[in-house]
Amino acid sequence: MTDPLTFRSSDGRFGLTISGAQLRTLLRHCSTGLPNETGGILAGHYSSRRDMAHVRALLPAPEDSVAGRSTFERGTAGTRTWLDRLWRERGLYYLGEWHSHPHAPPDHSPRDQQTMRNPGLVHAYACPEPLLLIIGGDFHGEYQIAASVFHQGRPAVELVRADATFSRPTGHDRHSHD
Ligand SMILES: [Zn+2]
Repeated sequence: MTDPLTFRSSDGRFGLTISGAQLRTLLRHCSTGLPNETGGILAGHYSSRRDMAHVRALLPAPEDSVAGRSTFERGTAGTRTWLDRLWRERGLYYLGEWHSHPHAPPDHSPRDQQTMRNPGLVHAYACPEPLLLIIGGDFHGEYQIAASVFHQGRPAVELVRADATFSRPTGHDRHSHD
């Protein structure tokens, strides 16, 4: 069982959660895509205060996507049908995009930023603040995951890991003797 992951902006205004089950699905899609990048759509819902996005469904790469070792352009084939069905059956909607960076850090490239800021994306999914989740590293071992939110006309906001199970190495042992 993998624990859920939670990410939050440093000002606490916005966050994202993804369940352990969804995370495992994501890692499976990432390794299926090897040696290339792969990606797709995140769907789910926001908290009632709209300060937390809960990822509940993942679309793997549509068949018209274009993938290379360090590029990924998500296609659109079938995406509308998938989203319509999720909305009808589960009340879920488009939250943003995910893609993999095999054996590379999960930092968004200038190209990724361009994709996320494309007005066409906002228009197509009626989502003015799309999320981007990038999974980097080794999908069978030490993977890294980064989340950010793209407000139109403003710099991307990084969301940092905020779940209880995550602790950053501090460089010293806090249980050591004083
Ligand atoms: Zn990328």
